[in-house]
Amino acid sequence: MTKAYLIVGSGPAGITAAERIRNLDSDAEIIVISEEKTPMFYRPRIPEYSVGKIGIEEIMVKKKDFYVQKKIQLHLGTRATKLDKKKRVVETSEKNIYGYDKLLIATGISPIEPKFPGSHLEGVFTMHDLIQAERLKVAVRDAKQVVVVGGGLLGMDMAEEFRTTGLHVVFLVRRNSLGDPFFDEYGCKLIRDEFKNMEVEVITNAEVQSLEGTNNQLASVLLTDGRRFDSNLCFIAIGATHAVDWLKDSGLKIENGVLVDRYLRSHDDDDAVFSAGNAAQIMDPVFEKHIVQTNWINAIAQGDIAGNNMAGGGLRKYETTSNYFKRVGDLFFNLIGTGNLRMKGGKRNYFKGKTPKEYVMVTTKEGRVVGAVVCGRHKITVKLKDSIEKQSDFSNMDKLIDQEEKSIEDLSKLF
Ligand SMILES: Cc1cc2nc3c(=O)[nH]c(=O)nc-3n(C[C@H](O)[C@H](O)[C@H](O)COP(=O)(O)OP(=O)(O)OC[C@H]3O[C@@H](n4cnc5c(N)ncnc54)[C@H](O)[C@@H]3O)c2cc1C
Repeated sequence: MTKAYLIVGSGPAGITAAERIRNLDSDAEIIVISEEKTPMFYRPRIPEYSVGKIGIEEIMVKKKDFYVQKKIQLHLGTRATKLDKKKRVVETSEKNIYGYDKLLIATGISPIEPKFPGSHLEGVFTMHDLIQAERLKVAVRDAKQVVVVGGGLLGMDMAEEFRTTGLHVVFLVRRNSLGDPFFDEYGCKLIRDEFKNMEVEVITNAEVQSLEGTNNQLASVLLTDGRRFDSNLCFIAIGATHAVDWLKDSGLKIENGVLVDRYLRSHDDDDAVFSAGNAAQIMDPVFEKHIVQTNWINAIAQGDIAGNNMAGGGLRKYETTSNYFKRVGDLFFNLIGTGNLRMKGGKRNYFKGKTPKEYVMVTTKEGRVVGAVVCGRHKITVKLKDSIEKQSDFSNMDKLIDQEEKSIEDLSKLF
């Protein structure tokens, strides 16, 4: 009998799962519903698109005929609003009903909406999807200055992209140091230098009090210490939250996302509901706790496993540790495993590259690698990631620690 697979969300997790299902089941009915109006695109490049630097074709991930060839039905502009597990149906905002044998929840995350007084004013933006990016693109054309609020990964992207269009950028960072807590001290220094070279005005220890304006248009951003920055444009990046509100009455276990087991199955009684990508709170393959891996590479890996397990490809465990790839100016970082997180009993080891913009910081604990920050040396990323996943013995790294100058080449010899 033909099986019906329903996937909610057309990002990397949803579409990778759809492709895997099709490879395993040539007769299946595969429907992907998504709020987005554009098929899967490379979300990490939205910031460049939103300032008009690149066109839509440069961020499309799949060729136009991919969905036809793979017989994947895409129902775009369709928002899921309710799941009834007993009846095995998903309801949409247009009150359409979609039935399924197997369901994948891959709805990702959405930006936290700011609650500062004045956040509703014209000229204030957040962004996750292309609809918001289109609106921002129009506003950028008329702007001379922009205030970016939030020193996280998205804030850094946007501060940089706004600057490339020639805008004066004031970048408000709540923490003491730009780049903290994602990058180690040396990485933060490199990042600070990049923004200095770009001539972005970075203000640390900045706490926003309110956004102010007249005639419903933003005019300035006020800090709690009294400083004021005039601008008609403000981009707010203060974090994200899981996009699974539509599941609140479904009976699924939800914390920071849909709780899934090592096979990406939700704790659903009849084994029909799976979740992957940013919407899923997975069991970390190494650290034995539930986490959300909020990056592109892991969303693809999870989509692949979920699709395989949904279509009966022989149950596979999800065993991939976190790997966040990030570009800041001319710097190329990978944050692997625990990344820059300080661990009790953990030891930090630094390895130099050929230029000051190449280095590796590895955290070991009890003779095992648990996390790393890699800058400018992509190849070693794979080796470090494998070591974390295999929990390889690295007690011999201590011998290197005794040497005064350690190089990435020295580190490579250990693999
Ligand atoms: C601006 C930006 C920059 C980023 N930069 C990087 C980076 O440099 N490196 C990196 O590794 N990662 C980066 N990321 C993160 C990366 O893009 C995500 O981790 C990845 O896209 C997650 O994939 P996903 O499939 O889980 O969810 P998403 O890609 O978020 O896709 C979820 C889909 O579900 C749809 N949806 C949501 N709710 C509903 C609903 N109720 N009904 C129907 N459809 C719904 C959405 O419209 C969307 O199509 C960035 C993200 C953003 C927003």
